[in-house]
Amino acid sequence: MYDIIIIGGGAAGMSAAIYASRGGMKTLMLEKTACGGQAVRTYEVDNYPGFFNAPTGEELSAAFEKHAMKFGAERVFETAREIKNPASPVKTVVTRKNAYDTRAIIIASGAEPRHLGIPGENELAGAGVSYCATCDGAFFRDKDAVVIGGGNTACEDALYLSGFCKNVYMLNRSKRFKAQKTLLDKVFADKRITVYTDMIAERFEGNGKLERVYAKNTETSARGFINASAAFIAIGITPDTGLAKQIGLETCERGFIKTDMYLKTSIDGIYAAGDARVSPLRQIVTAAADGAVAANSAINYLNNR
Ligand SMILES: Cc1cc2nc3c(=O)[nH]c(=O)nc-3n(C[C@H](O)[C@H](O)[C@H](O)COP(=O)(O)OP(=O)(O)OC[C@H]3O[C@@H](n4cnc5c(N)ncnc54)[C@H](O)[C@@H]3O)c2cc1C
Repeated sequence: MYDIIIIGGGAAGMSAAIYASRGGMKTLMLEKTACGGQAVRTYEVDNYPGFFNAPTGEELSAAFEKHAMKFGAERVFETAREIKNPASPVKTVVTRKNAYDTRAIIIASGAEPRHLGIPGENELAGAGVSYCATCDGAFFRDKDAVVIGGGNTACEDALYLSGFCKNVYMLNRSKRFKAQKTLLDKVFADKRITVYTDMIAERFEGNGKLERVYAKNTETSARGFINASAAFIAIGITPDTGLAKQIGLETCERGFIKTDMYLKTSIDGIYAAGDARVSPLRQIVTAAADGAVAANSAINYLNNR
């Protein structure tokens, strides 16, 4: 029997493992692939406090992993497929091979940015093509950048980038925007941002790093390209919260888990941390902070039972 089981070995899960095991809890972390989650795919992490020499995502994740195991947390590479008896004091996390009993669960299963699926996207990811303006924008100071999308995130990205990029071009697939009007008004009022509607990105091109974004006008079928060093794809992020839905946890309309300020979910003894939950910012530092809060809340919950 475990005190706390953590589902997911990304920044949130590994931070939760540090706090839970250091707090004297018998802790198990389940990870379906490799520890580190999305952060492993980041070439350079330039914004995690203390690591000012910008480690690769892999290096930072390896340091997290070492730390996560330091205080006796156990870790297995298995996928949590089911949570049995979620509302009972003893819950069971089921994988293909095993069933683990636990008194509390932290869901830190993360999320995945949506991809466009166009030529050059995979090849130039991390070399100009990015899914996170907050993470990578600063590498493109005084350069031209393209933002693809028409929702709130795309608008926020464009406004953020216009603070230091030379020009920002925003491509939206139709004339309608999903973004709030106030944000859109700011985008249209910003002299450094040029908005193209009815425009879809068709291809990314560059020799080792992004140089051009090819696009097509969906109304006229006219094609062209924009010279740019960076392209930020902001067409949404999908939470990995199938398990949460399976047990009826409350989520927002986009599937992110709802929590209170202690990161407690709608079921007693189940907490959520990191990108999988409703949050205004999804970064390594916020995921790590969430892991700490969720583990601390789970410890208090168990101590008060
Ligand atoms: C390309 C890219 C670049 C980024 N760059 C930066 C950056 O420079 N700085 C920054 O701060 N942030 C960056 N981010 C964002 C940052 O990586 C995330 O906010 C952070 O990793 C979220 O951590 P997490 O632990 O909540 O989720 P994730 O990193 O998504 O980790 C979740 C983990 O849970 C596992 N998992 C899911 N379901 C299960 C299951 N059922 N059973 C077992 N395991 C499961 C997954 O395999 C995964 O390892 C970047 C993101 C991307 C995609």
